[in-house]
Amino acid sequence: MEDSQKQVINFAAGPSKLPRPVLLQAQKELLDYNGLGISVLEMSHRSADFLKIVNAAENDLRELLKIPENYKVIFLQGGGTGQFSAVPLNLIGLKEERCADYVVTGAWSANAAKEAERYGKVNIVHPKLDAYRSIPDPQCWNLNPNASYVYYCANETVHGVEFPFIPDTKGTVLVCDMSSSFLSKPVDVSKFGLIFAGAQKNIGCAGVTVIIIREDLLGYALKECPVIFDYKIQVSCNSLYNTPASYSFYIMGLVLQWIKSSGGAEAMEENSATKSKLIYDIIDGSSGFYVCLTDSMCRSRMNIPLRIGNANGDGILETEFLDQAAKNNMLSLKGHRSVGGIRVSLYNAVTVEETQRLADFMINFMKEHCT
Ligand code: PMP
Repeated sequence: MEDSQKQVINFAAGPSKLPRPVLLQAQKELLDYNGLGISVLEMSHRSADFLKIVNAAENDLRELLKIPENYKVIFLQGGGTGQFSAVPLNLIGLKEERCADYVVTGAWSANAAKEAERYGKVNIVHPKLDAYRSIPDPQCWNLNPNASYVYYCANETVHGVEFPFIPDTKGTVLVCDMSSSFLSKPVDVSKFGLIFAGAQKNIGCAGVTVIIIREDLLGYALKECPVIFDYKIQVSCNSLYNTPASYSFYIMGLVLQWIKSSGGAEAMEENSATKSKLIYDIIDGSSGFYVCLTDSMCRSRMNIPLRIGNANGDGILETEFLDQAAKNNMLSLKGHRSVGGIRVSLYNAVTVEETQRLADFMINFMKEHCT
């Protein structure tokens, strides 16, 4: 089966490519996990064997990110979007004013800010951006000293804007959506009150979202917070208040092991720098054939949105690019429906060699179509 399978390169933005060794191991264990005679899909989430899977995933994550002792790790359902609600439900009550600061640099932080308005006052700390291509200068952020937390998105998956720094909140609790850059580089967890990340990009498949929270922030949930989103309750139940997305936990566990055996977050960072440079160098050297409008100081290593022909994109050329790429077995390069064009997603499982193949294809396509 392995040999006869069509070898494609999957540049999807999420759900996205999983490491080949992970898929092969999952295939091998699908019918009989660890000699138990049953699949993980059929296993009770209260069984000792499943608990081992959950605990191993947590331990591997703690090791990979050097998570300090005073932080709790939980795995929840509801995706990143669930966390847009869970964050204010759990944290906006930290201070009486029920206000939160939001930095809005793309579609996902905009969605998060909108959702938070249901639960309290939202202060967007900078003037509204005309386009999501840059990070407003932190010197000009209007932080509210009474805010319960400051929220930002480390990497905007649709617009390709990635923070190259951790914001200084002047002591206010910092919350970060790391969904699309999680474990693509080391991170100093101690700088954050809370980090969350959907697994389906860099660390697994859809269905599970990782939350890392400083323990003193537990216990402030609003009374209307649904029990499954109450961080304190989920911490006390080891993320097993109710039936979890058990198979997604298992796949995430395999990916975390794969990251460890591949050199950890440091190796992922090195690879992502190499991969993204391959693509940005072609864009920058193309004399305007390929266009990426993102400010160079915050270009994403994970998601590269680009246009072909001109800054608004030549529809005919872009369609041809996607068709030819698909014929060359390079998939899911279409830009997000809200922005159009092309988007190259280079998560952990995409290899340098695969990225080089795309780079070669881009050069050839440009040579064929440059007049
Ligand atoms: N945050 C970011 C940065 C994302 O990229 C996404 C989804 N692509 C979300 C949040 C929302 O995640 P979900 O679709 O799992 O709700």
